[in-house]
Amino acid sequence: MSNVVGRLAPTPSGHLHLGNALAFGAAWLSARSVGGRLLLRFEDVDRGRARPEVEAGQRADLAWLGIDWDEEVSPQRDRDYRPWLQALAPTVYRCACTRARVAAEGFRADGGCPGGCRDTPRVGGRVRFRISPGEVVISDRRFGTNRVDPARLGDPVLQREDGTFSYTLAVVADDLQDGVSEVVRGADLLEQVAVQSQVWSAFGATPPTWLHVPLVLGEDGKKLSKSHGSTELRALRAAGWSATEVWRVVLPWLGLSGADSLSSALASWQDRGPVDAVVAPSTAPGG
Ligand SMILES: [Zn+2]
Repeated sequence: MSNVVGRLAPTPSGHLHLGNALAFGAAWLSARSVGGRLLLRFEDVDRGRARPEVEAGQRADLAWLGIDWDEEVSPQRDRDYRPWLQALAPTVYRCACTRARVAAEGFRADGGCPGGCRDTPRVGGRVRFRISPGEVVISDRRFGTNRVDPARLGDPVLQREDGTFSYTLAVVADDLQDGVSEVVRGADLLEQVAVQSQVWSAFGATPPTWLHVPLVLGEDGKKLSKSHGSTELRALRAAGWSATEVWRVVLPWLGLSGADSLSSALASWQDRGPVDAVVAPSTAPGG
């Protein structure tokens, strides 16, 4: 048994699709290949979008794919993020800029909001994390070393005006609390490492290792979402796909050709694969 702790972190706002199969399959392989542990955590900090029936469907999809886990930890809806926000008090500020203003004017060169709220005490508004500008060297197991200036992404919101907490705060607090040592997810989140690493550091903690896997796109070239219903696992299942057929499509995207199940791919698992983005098929194999 190694000390590696990975996690499966589905968001129960939409059904799982081929992109999720890729990311969760990679998280499973990465942890299992070194005898590590795998946690399941539902990421429903955005309560308005979470749907219980979708969560049940996601569990069924994971079981169908043969993705198992060692422990289910508290979903985000059951966690209290107030102490975590409190711990970041020295690096946060209240921002009274409207969403429209931020969209229209963008962030300042140092990452601060357009209204200069970093330097002027505000009442109300949302709570933002003050990022340190300057290039950050981020290291990814697949994409290698990249230089990203987090100021370009702007100071992230940690708590919204209505008091709810953001994904940026929740995911770091959860991974820290759960002892997660490796994060495996889609390549669209690669640049976010620059921001999230700073939040980890602000907590006085060492960030996990990062592995960003190929992004799965729909035939329209966009990231898979609800508008790509035919790539949802339940739709594929209804169209007659077996889990084996899903893995025959997904595993080659990770450079694991010749395997037709997760367990058969374990021996040849590696961080690096042949491609950075792939297009999902929307019809059954041979169909
Ligand atoms: Zn502001």
